[in-house]
This record gives sequence, structure tokens and C-alpha cells, in this order.
Amino acid sequence: MATGAAHDVKTTCPYCGVGCGVIATVTPDGSVSVSGDPEHPANFGRLCSKGSALAETIDLDGRLLRPHIDGRPADWDEALDLVAARFASTIAEHGPDSVAFYVSGQLLTEDYYVANKLMKGFIGSANIDTNSRLCMASSVAGHRRAFGTDTVPGNYEDLELADLIVLVGSNLAWCHPVLYQRIAAEKERRPSLKIVVIDPRRTMTADIADMHLAISPDGDVALFGGLLSWIANTGALNYSYISNFTTGAAQALRFGAQDLRAVSRKCGIAPSQLIEFYSLFTRTERTVTVYSQGVNQSETGTDKVNAIINCHLATGRIGKPGASPFSVTGQPNAMGGREVGGMANMLAAHMDIENETHRARVQRFWQAPTVATRPGRKAVEMFEAIGQGHIKAVWIAGTNPVDSMPEADRVRAALAACPFVVVSDVLADTDTTRVAHVLLPAAAWGEKDGTVTNSERRISRQRPFLPLPGSARPDWDIMADVARRMGFAEGFSYTTAAEVFAEHAALSAFENDGERDFDIGAHAGIDAVGYEALAPFQWPQRRGAVTGTERFFAAGGFFTPEGKGRFVAPREARAGTGPLARLPAQEPTDQGFILNTGRVRDHWHTMTRTGKSPRLSQHMAEPFVEIHPDDAVQSGIAEASLVRLSKGPAQAIARALITNRQRRGSVFVPMHWNDRFASNARIDALVDAVTDPVSGQPALKQARASLASF
Ligand code: SF4
Repeated sequence: MATGAAHDVKTTCPYCGVGCGVIATVTPDGSVSVSGDPEHPANFGRLCSKGSALAETIDLDGRLLRPHIDGRPADWDEALDLVAARFASTIAEHGPDSVAFYVSGQLLTEDYYVANKLMKGFIGSANIDTNSRLCMASSVAGHRRAFGTDTVPGNYEDLELADLIVLVGSNLAWCHPVLYQRIAAEKERRPSLKIVVIDPRRTMTADIADMHLAISPDGDVALFGGLLSWIANTGALNYSYISNFTTGAAQALRFGAQDLRAVSRKCGIAPSQLIEFYSLFTRTERTVTVYSQGVNQSETGTDKVNAIINCHLATGRIGKPGASPFSVTGQPNAMGGREVGGMANMLAAHMDIENETHRARVQRFWQAPTVATRPGRKAVEMFEAIGQGHIKAVWIAGTNPVDSMPEADRVRAALAACPFVVVSDVLADTDTTRVAHVLLPAAAWGEKDGTVTNSERRISRQRPFLPLPGSARPDWDIMADVARRMGFAEGFSYTTAAEVFAEHAALSAFENDGERDFDIGAHAGIDAVGYEALAPFQWPQRRGAVTGTERFFAAGGFFTPEGKGRFVAPREARAGTGPLARLPAQEPTDQGFILNTGRVRDHWHTMTRTGKSPRLSQHMAEPFVEIHPDDAVQSGIAEASLVRLSKGPAQAIARALITNRQRRGSVFVPMHWNDRFASNARIDALVDAVTDPVSGQPALKQARASLASF
């Protein structure tokens, strides 16, 4: 029997973008328990059901423990030589844009940094994109249009300081449960705190709301355009803020100028409810508007984000205690990935790939042979290019696109026909590992060492507390090894995650005199001891600063060339036409129902981790489809019967859950299940690959599907 004392390791939850601090307690017999870190500012000791069950998901069942080539075990040298040689020969024959990396918001910032540096600075292509494109690219694009950079102006504390919280397209109770717990606790302590939930479904989040507005799918631009108009018409514009710190108000206000009945028709909310909401918003100075995937995952996602931000700019409610627009990210490190440029249209440290000065600066810092000169292919375009044969070698790291991409069957077929597919993952058998030529075993949560950034810009450490199993290695280490084998030894000599972080921090401060938002120069050159001890902090923390920065833009200071925040009129206003010209469907049409996909409380993405916990599977044991009672009657579907959803040749089977929480004409199906857990359950196979033209984010909440009894 082992002897010795149990020891605690402070780390961060690997699930959602709340980024809760976790204490892993490892006992001498090797067993692990987890609890919330009472000192972490994201959660102060709270955890949700998923976080509490983390210890149930760390066994080695199903783990990929050594490299494989074409299904046979191989050693690292053979596998990495092959990867390096095939990428190099493909580039030599077809050019840098014939290869691609598709990475993940599950990766740590250090992993992302090395992958981005290799692709953009040494291979010379910007074909690196991430599953974060599916999650929050529209918020990124909206931030950049309004603020000049991808900056979140407020923080979690604002949710407790606000007098009004507006939750738009966000089922916080299930998708960001600890933030919901913080709001619910504040509401109990201070019942005068008003909560408005704007969502086509009456989700669990609406249970604490003073008002639920069951908006038509995609009615958000009209709703917030109408709010902007109301703000102007009721004398609530903050003229001082607008004139001192912003541009473009006049054009945005012209778009908003429409009567209440027109707004009501477009967003499906009764005029009386609109007046109640608009009046509440207008008279409540301390207002936070939280938005999430219901806003982002849309053909008009970026315009929705800007319609919300416009209302905060118009009232000067931004970056002040209890007053801000607030994008809540889906994944644990979607933010960290963006900070190092892990998207096809960004450079590292929030620099711009289309800005020649930025490109030259990054190339100088990296001492790289080249730097990509134009944006690469965003996620949906990337898989289309693979299917069309333009991309001939792809490396997929820490994600499962064969289940999670729209038109997932086409993604599977594209990968199956691709000449060379590398997958680095923790699991041996996913729908994506099945189409790989080379499989590389990656370190999992509990084994990995690095940093993540949560929704409030707080950078926290993930620390290892388990040994690396088999021959698994961290993703940054695998990427750097391939880079060295491709002949780029100079730029990739890292031996620890701390060295990668130190370089990333130094780049953020390199030739940065405050003209960019992201700067963690205070940590440039951090050593191993400092990295080990690194406490959570909010960026930016510039050289010499002892703490991070809590809020942005209360007194201007935007990162646009003119230094002003920008009102952005939606596309239809700029072009005189657009999706809002169509009235949202209120009833099933001959194109079928509007198919809304999303998360449930106790599962995560394609269930590779949460599917291991019987406790987590008790909440929702199988795929289901939420249907309004009238639609169920009309379609001849009985409660708890099996339903076939179809779109063209793609099909999925789910259990009918008939509920008036669902809006007529729309159905909701969780995104999680796949063929490992149920047959015919890959719902994203039914979702068209339609994207927002600005952000490239797929409209995962506005697909179409037909229903029939199975
Ligand atoms: Fe983890 Fe999110 Fe739950 Fe926090 S709220 S414990 S980060 S899943």
C-alpha cells in the first residue's frame, strides 16, 4: 500500500469558457478528487455538475497511447518523420496553401502558439483555423468592427454589480452554469436585480427571469435596432459619450428608425413586451447584455453582435462597473487561441494579418523565413477545400469535425478522400480518428501543462497532476518536433511550456506602445518558477504593471485607427437588402422546421470525456428533439416516440420531447450524440454549411429539417 500524504494541485476546468479554478487532490494510492478553488476569481469555489464529475473522466479507457500509421502501431520517430516529410513534399509540390491545421478551443495557449507560428511564420500559409470558429467567430468580428480589436470590455463582477442583466441567445443555466449560479445568488440577495432572457426557447435560464422574450429565430438585429431607436426617441442617448468617443452613430440610428409594429413583426415579440423591455433598458444605467451562441451561430451573427454593442455605445454603458456588453465564450480556451492568432484571419497577439506593419513585426520577432500575407481558409471553407482537393494534407488537433462540423457527412467524405490526414487526440476511436492516416497520442487534461483564457480575459494555469500515459506528449511538443523535422530547428527549440509562454508574452509586448489591446509584457521572459506560481490575472498586464486590467472603454481609448468606438449599421441597412427582408418563419414551412442545435447541462461537445461518467449521463440519457405541442399534433408525433429528422440524405433519430418551452415552427436537438453513443445521432450532418459572411461562423441554430415518426 502506498504511503505519504495527499497533495493538491491548482488547475482550471477544461470545459466551458467560464474557466473555473479547480483543485485536484491526488492521494498516495493515485486516486483523484476535484473541488472548486475558493481563491479563483471566476468561481470562488463553485463548480457545476460537469466540473464536479471531472475525476470520473480521467481513466485511460479508450485512450490513444502510442502513434499509429495506417492503423498499425508505430514509434514517434517513424510517425513524426512521416508527418514532416508528407507536409514538406506537399508544400514543395503544391505550395504552402495546399496544407492546413484544424485545431481546437480545447488546446492550451502554448499549443495554439506553436501551431500558429509553424503555419503562418514558417510554412507561410494562414490555413490554420479552429473549432472556435463554430463557437464565437461572430463575436470576434463584431468586437473588431466596433472596438478595433477583439476586446471584451467587462468582467464577471459586473454581473453582480448590474441592476439589469439581459441574456441574449444564452442558456447560461446549462452552458455556463457557474456564471448562472453567481447571477442567481445575486438575484436572491438583491431581488431588485432584473433579468431579461431573450431566446426562442424558454430554457432553464428563463426560470429566474423577470421577463422572457420568445424572439423569432434571427430576430435579434431588428430587436436591438428597435432598442437603439427607442433610446434615441426617448432622450436617453449619451451625447457626451457618443460625440467624444464614437463614430457612425447617425447611420446606425437611421437603421433603427422604424415603428414598433415593424420591429414586432420582424422579431415576433408583441409591441407591449417590446415597450416594457425597451423602457427597462433605457432607464437602467447599470445594464450588462450577455450574449452567446444564439447570437453568434447565425448567418447574421456579426450584425447581431454589433446591434447589441450599438445600444451600449449609445448609452455610454461600456467598461463601467455593472454596465457593458459581454460575450460569453463557449470553450475553455477560445480566447487564448485568439490571443496567439489561432484563426485563419488573425496574426499573433491580436495583430492583423492584412496589416503590413503587423506582419513585418511578427516576422521580425519570430525571425521567420516568411509570414502569411493573406487570410487562410476558415473552418467551413477549409473542409470544402479538402473536399475539392485544394488542400492535400491536414492536421486535426484535439477536435472531432466528423461529428461537429455542419454537413458532417460531407466533412467525413472529404477527409476520407484527402491524401494525408494527421489526427492528434487523446482518444483512439472517434469518428475523426477513423479517417486518419497518422494518429498521434496527445496529453489530456490532468497531464497537460499550460495556460487558458476565460471569457473575462483572465489567464489561468492548467497544471498537470497525472503522469503522461503510454507515450502521449503535449500538443505543443508534438508540433515543435514536426517543425524541427521540417528544417525549422531555430524557431522551435522549446523544452517546456513555460518557454513557449514566455515567448508569447514577449511577442505581445514587442514594439507595442499601447496601440494594441493584448499585451502581457509583465510576464515576458517568465522563468519556470514564475510560471509554476503564476496566479490568474486579467490581460492586458503591460510591462511594469502589478495587476491586470479589469475594464476597457469607459472613457474611450478604442483601438481603431481613429481611436473611437464604431457604431456599425447592419448589412441590410448598408446594402438596402438582406436576410431581415425575410420575415422569420413562425410555423413549419415546406422546407421543414427550423432546427436549433445546442448543449445540454451535463454533456460536452461530442461526449468524448463526459460520456465516460454514468452520473453525467443520467440527466439526459439519449438524444431528444424538443417539439411544440401543436407541431407534434400536426406532425402526428407522440410524446416519447422516436422521431426521424431528415435533410436530404442525412438523417438523425431522436426521442420526442413535447413541450411548450419550444417555439412553434422550431425544434431543438442537442449537438452531443454521435455514433459511439447512439445510432443515427449525428445532428450536424443535417445542418447546412451556411455561414455569416463577415465572420465565417456557421449558422448552427438556423438549419432546416423535416420530422416524421420513426
Ligand atoms: Fe467547468 Fe464551466 Fe462548469 Fe465552471 S461552469 S465547472 S468551467 S463546465
